[in-house]
Amino acid sequence: MTVGYPIDLHTHSLRSDGALEPSALVERAAARGVTIQALSDHDTLSGVADAVATGERLGVRIIPSTELNTESEWGHVHILGYFLDPADATLEDRLRWLREHRGRRVELMVEKLSALGYPITLARVLEIAQGGSLGRPHLAQALFEAGHVPTYDSAFDTLIADGAPAYVSRVGLTPLEAVQLIVARGGVPSLAHPFTVNGLDELMPLLVAGGLAGIETYYGSHPPAMTAACLTLARRYDLVPTGGSDFHGRGDHGAPLGGTFVPPETIGALEARRRPIAAATMTPAVGGKS
Ligand code: AMP
Ligand code: FE
Ligand code: FE
Ligand code: ZN
Repeated sequence: MTVGYPIDLHTHSLRSDGALEPSALVERAAARGVTIQALSDHDTLSGVADAVATGERLGVRIIPSTELNTESEWGHVHILGYFLDPADATLEDRLRWLREHRGRRVELMVEKLSALGYPITLARVLEIAQGGSLGRPHLAQALFEAGHVPTYDSAFDTLIADGAPAYVSRVGLTPLEAVQLIVARGGVPSLAHPFTVNGLDELMPLLVAGGLAGIETYYGSHPPAMTAACLTLARRYDLVPTGGSDFHGRGDHGAPLGGTFVPPETIGALEARRRPIAAATMTPAVGGKS
């Protein structure tokens, strides 16, 4: 059954806040006709080995990736990092630090929810996450199961979205630090779903100076005007227009696997932006392309 497009550069598994094991995710993608898939779990590359093994069996090339959700006044700035190495200990140290902060934040939100009259247990949240990077989707699932909200998605709107009563801000990287981390570890950074950024026009030059190489242009819930705006930014800043489903398999968030058309030349263009780690480390943090 081929019902999706062949390239999907934004997917999540149970190693973070997706609902499927990495191997099951790749099986589902393959069944939908995907042949190139980025596994982009939040703050971890721990699903890559299983995804690659399944991908080899089913003819899906897996691009090892992560998505770094940042904290700043710019709104929801998420940075995708492509072509990372799961065996990179320096990168893993940073990702572990981010995951530890995710855990503490979720604990604080569990306490806040209980104080607000929506008791859930941390133990149940951890069970739902099954060892993956903790996040608000696991809280949403626990709130739904406990009967505190009528649907998984409504947990965000009423309780845990930014500005909602149980929201706790994150401790983590700024957008620029996230871009610089990806570049320093030999990866290729792309700005995820730019419509969630506040002040995109001001933020872009800062991130480009830090080494941003792509912008997620093809995205399920992007209106055509947003896709056009991203293409304009891509031309202005010499960025690769990337795209993907942001499939999680939970609630209404994201599109189906392979549900977003991504032009075939995207992969070669992204590969051309790869730099070896040593060379990337010597690149000044701020400045133009060499
Ligand atoms: P966190 O990283 O813990 O702040 O959680 C952010 C994640 O929650 C995103 O990566 C999405 O997977 C999910 N998310 C954010 N907003 C919503 C929403 N309104 N409805 C459903 N899922 C959402
Ligand atoms: Fe997510
Ligand atoms: Fe995101
Ligand atoms: Zn995502």
